Amino acid sequence: MNTKTTSEKLNFLKKIVLNYKNSKDCPEIAIWCPYCENSNKNKLKMIVNVEKNLYHCFVCDTKGRSIPYLVKKLSEKYYSESKNYFLDSSNQIKDEWLDILNQLDDNEEKPEELEKVEIPEGFMFCALNLDAMDPDIRDVCNYAINRGCDDHKMWLLRLGVSNHPNFRRSLILPSFDENGIINFYTCRRIDAPTTDMYKYINCNASRVKIIFNDLNINWKKPLTIVEGPLDLLKTNDNATCLLGSSLPKDSALFKKIVKNGTPVILALDKDAISKTLKIADDLMKYNIDVSLMDTSYEKDVGDMSHEMFDNLYQNSCKLDASSLLLNKISLI
Ligand SMILES: [Zn+2]
Repeated sequence: MNTKTTSEKLNFLKKIVLNYKNSKDCPEIAIWCPYCENSNKNKLKMIVNVEKNLYHCFVCDTKGRSIPYLVKKLSEKYYSESKNYFLDSSNQIKDEWLDILNQLDDNEEKPEELEKVEIPEGFMFCALNLDAMDPDIRDVCNYAINRGCDDHKMWLLRLGVSNHPNFRRSLILPSFDENGIINFYTCRRIDAPTTDMYKYINCNASRVKIIFNDLNINWKKPLTIVEGPLDLLKTNDNATCLLGSSLPKDSALFKKIVKNGTPVILALDKDAISKTLKIADDLMKYNIDVSLMDTSYEKDVGDMSHEMFDNLYQNSCKLDASSLLLNKISLI
């Protein structure tokens, strides 16, 4: 039975962290999160409530009831002593989290509002316009087909076309959030060569705040991750894209993978191997199963045939600490 006072508990924690924020008479203390491991030790995103025996990180959403467990993560040597101060677990009900979060009176960042995205003007489904009278519309549909898109994918990805001057002769790839609200789109100008830097028209929404086609994702199944939306024409169905080649820890996609414990198959382009390994490393720190797909046969996932993708997908191999290290060494 622990009989320590709130201030004794707080003082114990203050002893083991470099920086903290704790208002007078408040049982909550903000500390650096040992799960996010932000390189800036002044980022105090984890809140510990010593009276309720709860901790919660705003950034990575790590939460728990056993403060000794958190102490162990911060500094092994204080672990046994911490059990004199804190219960190893308690019977908190989930709703208490909301109270705690609402009560916080410091200036924690609140989740930012997402920019509102509008579907491109004149949007029409490709799948319904394969025989359109307008040759420009037909050309866009044929572009998708020539890139290996079948009827199923056309519907799954809700590929579109528009005769509005801004989007004419562009393949539209819209993205929808888990509630079916549009959160992003990208358009591929079909006449622009692959080397053209203006081949895509993107909407203004932030890439890290959205998850591309969250609506299509089953978070309990292995998730394939590719770089760009066009690559999704070739993947299996439970897939999303980075809209780039990095996966920041504060991105919506990273957080949702960690929160759900979703196994991940990384299928980034060949030239992004060091970025792939960085992503693998970051995810594995959160106990996420990561497999790598060997994309060295083709430059881009988007250039592969379906058969090749399927074959490489079946042969993707799960990384462990030693194979990750070997992969890193092979880059040197
Ligand atoms: Zn964290």
